[in-house]
This record gives sequence, C-alpha cells and structure tokens, in this order.
Amino acid sequence: MSLHRRQFLQTSSFAIGASVLPSTWLAQLLLPAGEMKILRNNVGIFTERGGTIAWMIDKEGLIVVDTQFPDTAPHLIEAIRKQSDRRIDLLVNTHHHGDHSGGNIAFKDIVNRVVAHKNSRANQERVAIANKAEDKQLYPDTTFDTTWSQKVGAETLSMHYFGPGHTNGDSFVHFENANVVHCGDLMFNRRFPFVDKTSGASVSNWIEALGKARKTFSKDTLFVFGHSADGIPVTGTEQDLAAMQNYLSKLLKFVKKEIKAGKTKEQLAEAKLQSIPGAEEWKGQGIERSVNAAFDELMEGKK
Ligand SMILES: [Zn+2]
Ligand SMILES: [Zn+2]
Repeated sequence: MSLHRRQFLQTSSFAIGASVLPSTWLAQLLLPAGEMKILRNNVGIFTERGGTIAWMIDKEGLIVVDTQFPDTAPHLIEAIRKQSDRRIDLLVNTHHHGDHSGGNIAFKDIVNRVVAHKNSRANQERVAIANKAEDKQLYPDTTFDTTWSQKVGAETLSMHYFGPGHTNGDSFVHFENANVVHCGDLMFNRRFPFVDKTSGASVSNWIEALGKARKTFSKDTLFVFGHSADGIPVTGTEQDLAAMQNYLSKLLKFVKKEIKAGKTKEQLAEAKLQSIPGAEEWKGQGIERSVNAAFDELMEGKK
C-alpha cells in the first residue's frame, strides 16, 4: 500500500467517525498490508515490517528473498497470488535474523527449495533451539559455502558469501539478468546497523565484504538494502555501498582513538554520541550497538 493510500484510508476512517466502526475493523483499516514495487524486469521488492523482501515472478518461475515475520509473510504471498498460482521455486534467506527468516514458516507447503549460507542455517537452528521455537521454523534445505546458483524461469539467481559482516552468514543475492542484488543486512542505508557479535559479526571484514561486492557487481547494478533510515530509500547503487564502507571504517577509526585515549565502554556509552565523525549521514537509534561491537572487536584483537 502506498503512503498516499494509507493516508487516505486513515483520513477517511476518521471522516466516517471512528466511534461507529467496530474496533477490529478500524484496526484493519489502519494496518498497512505491505507494498509491492517492481524494480527491473520481473524483479521487485515488498516492504511492510522488518527486512526488505525481494521477489521475481515470471511465467516459469517464482523466487522470494527473505520473508520478514510470520504475520507479514502471508501478505506477500497474497500479493504474489494475484500474479501467479505456481509453487515458489526458490526461497532464499540473506541471513538468519527473525525479521528475514521468521516468515519462512508461511511458505512451508508451497515452496520447492529453501537456500541460505551454511552459517545462516546453523544460526537459525541455534537461536530457535535457545528460544524453544523450533516448531515455528522452516530451515534451509540447501546450504552453500562461497557461491551457489540456480536458473529459475528466465532468471538466474546466484549467491555470494564474502565472509563475516553483520553476522557470519550473510549472502549477497544476485538476480543476474535483472542485475539486482539483495544485500540483506550488510546494508543499513544511512541508519545505524545491528552488529550481531553473538552470531560471529565482524566490522573489519564487513568493510572487506562490501568492497568485494563492489568489485563483483557493476555500476549498473541496482542494490536492495535490508533496512534504511526513515525517509531514505531501501534501494540504491554501488555508491551507497561505498558510503556504508566509509561509515564502518570511520566507526573503527573513532573507537580505536577513544580506546587509545583510555576510554572504557561505559564512558563511551555515557558520552551519548549522536553520530560518528566523518560519517554523519548515519543516524537514528542504536549508535551504541555499533560502538560496543567495534569496541569488543578491537579489544579482541589486543588479547
Ligand atoms: Zn534486519
Ligand atoms: Zn539482520
């Protein structure tokens, strides 16, 4: 649903008079049911809540990359069903986090193959066991180490793993013909990223991974990002990957300097930072997640 339509519905429901509407109906009117947007060829994105989903729909193939949550994934399936009633040929997870793989379960009986990096699958399983949520998972049945590829309909989908970044299991997912790449959470566009140290994240290799992606793909590649700051697009170019590299580099540089100056993690938290010097475009909530992760990583290197 577009912002315009959502605003219209909100406005009109109030115009009708909220008091005459049953509250559940009102809640449904106000609830966004997600937005489908075509990018290139037959490839597009779906956004509602959680990580951005990418999809490919043609006569002979259906691909879905990431699934958000169990309550939003059915909205995507509903939207796909308006265009195609075939089984989903391929479901891909960029990584294991619940806002990207939590909705897998909604595809349980309608998907032929589920693919992710081997570490992503291991992380999904580990977290599900810890949370006693194994019955709510649909795990990847196919995993890979460095690259993986499959032809689906007229499209060829390939996956690339460049080592740890946001977690230790993040893939870049390339729709080769459309030349669209889903970066998963290796890209937080102008928004402070989550750095999941408990799942093997590495800030320094994240910078390398983005560099490898810039070399592997092209100036013409359209990139899809896991998340973005409010009002900032979830798609972009190689320039945005370079900007993210700069953010992570400036983060490491800043924290290194603070450690040298004798600052503790607690003192850095008390400083109530608003941004990282040299990467002021990155803003929002959660700067401490970046700073803490960089701090731990740099101290780890000193042991
Ligand atoms: Zn995410
Ligand atoms: Zn994530």
